[in-house]
Amino acid sequence: MERRKRILITGAAGFLGSHLCDRFIKENYHVIGMDNLITGRLKNIEHLFKLENFEFYNHDVSKYIHVPGELDYILHFASPASPIDYLKIPIQTLKVGSLGIHNCLGLAKVKGARVLIASTSEVYGDPTVHPQPEEYWGNVNPVGPRGVYDEAKRFQEAMTMAYHTYHGLETRIVRIFNTYGPRMRLNDGRVLPAFIGQALRGEDLTIFGDGSQTRSFCYVDDLVEGIYRLLHSDYAEPVNIGNPDEITIGQFAEEIIKLTNTDQKVVYHDLPINDPKQRQPNITKAKEILGWEPKVSRSEGLKLTYEYFCSLSEEELRHKEHNNFDNYIVK
Ligand code: UDP
Repeated sequence: MERRKRILITGAAGFLGSHLCDRFIKENYHVIGMDNLITGRLKNIEHLFKLENFEFYNHDVSKYIHVPGELDYILHFASPASPIDYLKIPIQTLKVGSLGIHNCLGLAKVKGARVLIASTSEVYGDPTVHPQPEEYWGNVNPVGPRGVYDEAKRFQEAMTMAYHTYHGLETRIVRIFNTYGPRMRLNDGRVLPAFIGQALRGEDLTIFGDGSQTRSFCYVDDLVEGIYRLLHSDYAEPVNIGNPDEITIGQFAEEIIKLTNTDQKVVYHDLPINDPKQRQPNITKAKEILGWEPKVSRSEGLKLTYEYFCSLSEEELRHKEHNNFDNYIVK
C-alpha cells in the first residue's frame, strides 16, 4: 500500500493555515501543523487533535525546525498578516518571513520536500498598475509601517527562488489577495471582521480615509482550492490567487450593514500610511496554468462568514481589544 503523503503546515492555527489543515486531512494526508500561537488560535484546529493523521508542534519557525520522519510537502503560512498585527509585532514579522523561510527551505532540502510559500498582494505595495499581474514589480515603501510585512514577503520570494535556482528545490509561490471567511479573528483589525464585529455590537462602522480605496475579496474555500492546485502543478513562478470582484471600502460597509440587517452609521478615521488605494488581482495565469477561478460570490461568502461570527460567544464578541487602534499608525 502506498504510504500517506506527509505535509508540514506552518501557521497551522491561523485563519488560512487551519483551513489548509482541513483540506489536506480531507485528502487523506498526514498533516503536521506548526504554530507558535502568537496570532493563531488552537480553537481553529482543536477538532483535528483526535485524528491519528494530525499532529501539532507549538514551535516558532524562526528557530531551527526539527520534524522527525519523511516530508513530502511544506506549506509556509506562518506570519502575522493584518496591518494591526504586524505593526504590533514588526520584528517577529520580519523574522518569520526571513529566518522562518530559511529554516523551511533548509528542512525541505534535507527531506526532499516541495515547498509552497504564502506570499501576498502586498508585494505590489500601493500599485501603479491595475489590475496587478505577476509581472508587476510593485511600489513598496521599505521603511514605511507596512515595510516589515511587505519586505519580509518580498525577501521570502527571493529566498525561495534562490533555493529553486541554485539547489534545484521544488518550490511554489502563491500571491494571496484579500481573503475572508470563518475563523478570521474578530480583533485582527482587518476590514471584514472589524465591520461585522462593529455591526453586531451596535457600533458605528469605521471607514479609514474616504472609503474610495478598493479591495477584491476572495472566499477562503476558493483560495484553498487554488493553493491545492498550485502545489500539485509544476509551475515555480509566482501565481496570483484572488477574486477580481473589486469593491470600494465605502460600498463594502454598505453591504455589511445590509447583511447584518442593522442600521449602523459609518464614521471616518484617518487613512493609515501607505494604505493601497486600489487592489485587484489579474488571475489570467491561475486560469491558464491551474484551470482555477473563484466560484463563491461575495454575497454567498459573506453569508457563510456572517453565520460564523454570529455563532461566537458574547464574550468573544465584546473582547476589549476589538476597537483598539492605538497600535495603528495613522497620519
Ligand atoms: N479599513 C477600514 N476600516 C477598518 C479596517 C480597515 O476602512 O476598520 C480599510 C483599510 O484602511 C484598507 C481596507 O479597509 O483600505 C482593507 O484593510 P485590511 O486591513 O482588511 O487589509 P489590507 O489593507 O491589508 O488590504
